[in-house]
Amino acid sequence: MSAYDPSNIFAKILRGEMPAEKVYEDEKTLAFMDIMPRTDGHTLVIPKAPARTFFDVGPDDLAALYASVQKISRAAVKGLGADGLTIQQFNEPAGGQVVFHMHVHILPRWNGIALRPHTGEMAPKDLVAANAEKIRAALR
Ligand code: 5GP
Repeated sequence: MSAYDPSNIFAKILRGEMPAEKVYEDEKTLAFMDIMPRTDGHTLVIPKAPARTFFDVGPDDLAALYASVQKISRAAVKGLGADGLTIQQFNEPAGGQVVFHMHVHILPRWNGIALRPHTGEMAPKDLVAANAEKIRAALR
């Protein structure tokens, strides 16, 4: 397994070098919209501390991360009126990981609607922004 590479896209988002449609932030975690959403409201939650995979996150950061995952999940289901929720987390290329800063996928689900392909198409920015606003509103 490789070391953490600070040039990954999510590290750039954390440093403010790349834009992101943010929905939530606290001392230890950041949540923002996936630009190639597999469902409406597809959100990513990351620890602020550098960590390549699940195995590299310390216990305090892991607890904070999953507390944020639950908080955003509740807001996503409520804000978007979803019927259910899928949570995914990939580690190393063999596990399906593409961006090497640990992250958790929050995927609101609707009855009878399948997930779109992983890292498929970019969604229109205004649609992603509208879904982000629904999640932010449900957090307030
Ligand atoms: P994973 O590493 O868990 O396999 O997937 C990485 C996820 O990051 C994918 O769902 C992909 O659509 C998303 N992604 C890739 N590049 C960017 C980016 O620049 N900004 C955002 N917000 N998401 C990204």
